Amino acid sequence: MLILSYLIGSISFIMGLKMLSNPKSAKQGNLVAAAGMTIAIFATIFLYRDNGQQLHNYGWIFAALIVGCVLGTGIAKKVKMTAMPEMVSLFNGMGGACAMLISVMEFRHITEGSHVLDGAYLLNEHVSHLHIFIIIIAMVIGAVSFSGSLIAYGKLNGTVKDFTFKGQSYINLALLAAMAAYIVVYTLNTPGNAYDGININMAVEILQPNHLYFFYGLIALALFYGVMFVLPIGGADMPVVISLLNSFTGVAAACGGFLYGNHVMLTGGILVGAAGTLLTVLMCRAMNRSLKNVLLGSFGASSGGSATAQTEGSGYKEINITDVAALVGYASKVMIVPGYGLAVAQAQHICHELEELLVEKGVDVSYAIHPVAGRMPGHMNVLLAEAGVDYDKLMEMDDANEQLKRTDVVLILGANDVVNPAAKTDASSPIYGMPILEVEQAKVVIVNKRSMKPGYAGIENMLFFQPKTSMLFGDAKGVLQNLVKEIEAL
Ligand code: NDP
Repeated sequence: MLILSYLIGSISFIMGLKMLSNPKSAKQGNLVAAAGMTIAIFATIFLYRDNGQQLHNYGWIFAALIVGCVLGTGIAKKVKMTAMPEMVSLFNGMGGACAMLISVMEFRHITEGSHVLDGAYLLNEHVSHLHIFIIIIAMVIGAVSFSGSLIAYGKLNGTVKDFTFKGQSYINLALLAAMAAYIVVYTLNTPGNAYDGININMAVEILQPNHLYFFYGLIALALFYGVMFVLPIGGADMPVVISLLNSFTGVAAACGGFLYGNHVMLTGGILVGAAGTLLTVLMCRAMNRSLKNVLLGSFGASSGGSATAQTEGSGYKEINITDVAALVGYASKVMIVPGYGLAVAQAQHICHELEELLVEKGVDVSYAIHPVAGRMPGHMNVLLAEAGVDYDKLMEMDDANEQLKRTDVVLILGANDVVNPAAKTDASSPIYGMPILEVEQAKVVIVNKRSMKPGYAGIENMLFFQPKTSMLFGDAKGVLQNLVKEIEAL
């Protein structure tokens, strides 16, 4: 019965993940996976047997479940759409913390109550090197994911600033090497060689007291690495780090499943780890970055040069709503570029209304989606799907760049970094090398934002000063409402 429940749980995860790949089925996919998780949790509570014994500490289990459910539901219901990326990062960090704590508990489980002989712990049970290795690996990855996600949370809500210093990548490299060495030496040296006659090659039977200090020292090192690894990541590179941390949590959870021999936890962890890894690879490709640099935490740190304040005032030209209405209303092809500002303004519904109105007037309208627009992977897809925008109207970056050559008017709504030509032209820019939406290929470029302030990467955007660009200032929602009225009156 337990195995059957785990099988149902695992199948639900796979089906849920598949359904999440399409905006139309994503909501149901989420529910299917959640139902699978509920089955897995209750099956573990009521059907799992450890050495023939059922779980008994129901009071603690249900108290923790109730606290988690109430807190999780409360936060998820209250969170604003714009704060979703932070919440996802925080929840991911909690997953990492769980994996780390599971390892700590498992470690205590094998050492606690063991006989102490000549200052060494004789373990309660024979534990293989693999078991010790998995405990340590899950602890390290979980700890890195936990502290790294907390820093990412702070960076996404603006409370933690990028921090970097000369030689930081070497320190990160040294920390990584130290952890790797720690893990290898610890795993291989765990048996106490002082005890002759015990077959130490097959099983770990003894722990020296200093191994315990090493274990807790390694936790501190891993937590510190998580902080050092995410702190310098700035510019446009956070998406890669976020998906990488996501995959870390999955791998750590899979290790937990291995330790407990829990198939559904193993499957869930592997799915999250694999999905996160694939997303990381896709994000790296989209951002034109290498994973090696991500792991060293060296890229994307503001290089100073171009991360300057913008030149407020002259040099750009403004346009009014009436002129924009005429331009888009009489165009044959319009491309909308949504960005983080559209989510901030919650203007997705009125944007969809504008699109429908233009289509009624015979204008060909589509949306150009940059893979890192917004503040989380797929942010713009989710935002526009919520407003009911037809999925076929969303164009991925490469297709959009192809279409932009034939576009009359490109309407940029609250996007900045993803259309910044510095990514192609300024080698000192923190976003240099990132592929962008090449909006300047269109005949006319209209940019809606509230001011000349920079976007997430904190850098000036020379697109705003180009002759074919006109600035339409104001909150995206208000601007689009007025634009719809003007076009209706045409
Ligand atoms: P940006 O952050 O570059 O720019 C958003 C712009 O929106 C700002 O310049 C802001 O200008 C404007 N804005 C804000 N509020 C409003 C509003 N109410 N109405 C109109 N405009 C508004 O966003 P992009 O989407 O172009 O780029 C995303 C950035 O975030 C990239 O650098 C990416 O790397 C980073 N990032 C992405 C993640 C992801 O997974 N997608 C995760 C973490 C970071 P003003 O204040 O003048 O209005």
